[in-house]
Amino acid sequence: MTTADVIIIGAGVNGASTAFHLAQAGVKRIVVLERKFVGAGASGKSGALVRTSYGNKPETELALESLTYFKHWKDLVGGKCGYRPVGLLLFTRPQDREDLETNVALHQQLGVNTRIITPAEAQALDPSLYVDDVTHVVYEPESGFADPNATTYSFMQAASAQGVEFRTDTPAVRIIIEGERVKGVATAHETIEAPVVIVIAGAWANQLFAPLGLDLGLIPRRARVSVFRWPYQRSPQHLTYLDRINRMWARPIDGNCTLVGVDREQLPTGDPDDYAEGLEQDYIALCREYLSKRFPGMQASPMRGGWACMLMDSPDGHPMIGALPAYQGLYCMAGDSGTSFKTAPAIGKCLSELITRGSSSIDLTPFRPSRFAENALWQDDFRYGIERARISR
Ligand SMILES: Cc1cc2nc3c(=O)[nH]c(=O)nc-3n(C[C@H](O)[C@H](O)[C@H](O)COP(=O)(O)OP(=O)(O)OC[C@H]3O[C@@H](n4cnc5c(N)ncnc54)[C@H](O)[C@@H]3O)c2cc1C
Repeated sequence: MTTADVIIIGAGVNGASTAFHLAQAGVKRIVVLERKFVGAGASGKSGALVRTSYGNKPETELALESLTYFKHWKDLVGGKCGYRPVGLLLFTRPQDREDLETNVALHQQLGVNTRIITPAEAQALDPSLYVDDVTHVVYEPESGFADPNATTYSFMQAASAQGVEFRTDTPAVRIIIEGERVKGVATAHETIEAPVVIVIAGAWANQLFAPLGLDLGLIPRRARVSVFRWPYQRSPQHLTYLDRINRMWARPIDGNCTLVGVDREQLPTGDPDDYAEGLEQDYIALCREYLSKRFPGMQASPMRGGWACMLMDSPDGHPMIGALPAYQGLYCMAGDSGTSFKTAPAIGKCLSELITRGSSSIDLTPFRPSRFAENALWQDDFRYGIERARISR
């Protein structure tokens, strides 16, 4: 029988960030249990866009706080996160102009470096863009992308340096409850006692919640991305793009390719223990079609790869972060909804503050896991004609 002060289940970017922040806050015995390897879930396969343009205040605050980490990674965490501030362009329909202006004004009030530019200015930033369908474009010069694996590894290394124990190839089999509080976690080989258990298990979270009678409305879904080589005519001035008209996002990868995700319909449900990691031909064709709408020259792009991954959708598309009131000492970051890489630094920081101090510097109330049981799900204030955006949001 081993004991710990805190057990974290899952070594993705959010588990590693939370471990790092708890150690920084002075928590001594932290064990992270990982069923496979660090980054084995959505984190290792993330598109890893780093941006602040959310259609709601709570996630904007998490993204903005996290951007400070990406910008000052060496000082705040150490190691590398691969942050590349190539800039972000956001495309919305001409009829959404008023909403967009209000949304951008909110971002500016919160301190985000963002502004609305003309289509011609957007084209000057990337001459390969098609802009005849837009009248205004949002530009975030400090946004871009990071390396999701390097980010996770450096959180893990910085946490380990402070004494956190990462146990890979060690699935948590069961969360142990005594009365109305958590007592620890059982693995295949032993039981570890701890007064605090945090479930950050991505698409696998239901396997741990169900035996406790917890239903947060979470659904594991399969998401896909593909990679296209730039044709010789494509300008190398390649930013990161969020295209709400074509329901597509894109970023540069490997110096001469575009990583693209198309988000046109509900992602299919899937079994995180048994899903295909490769791509289907129809998805590749869909990516080429919508990528070429924004970058016509990319019709001539050789396809160079892609992958699929399981993520966990929450019932309102926003993550569930905080205490699970049914059991004292039980917390979670669950239902990442395909959007919780860029916010992971702040999520780890705020969860750590909540556990060690009872409150967090950014208000986590909107993210409380109990909102599903309370029937208090929420929507983005600004949706740009997309009722429920999925990864591209
Ligand atoms: C294709 C794709 C593109 C994306 N693009 C972006 C983007 O551009 N920007 C953005 O912000 N987000 C993006 N996301 C979402 C982002 O990657 C995820 O929200 C984030 O990585 C979730 O991290 P996590 O640590 O919460 O979960 P995960 O990374 O899924 O980690 C969970 C970990 O828990 C482990 N685990 C599960 N069950 C157990 C158990 N019983 N015992 C022990 N370990 C267990 C798993 O093996 C896994 O390693 C994207 C996701 C996908 C799939």
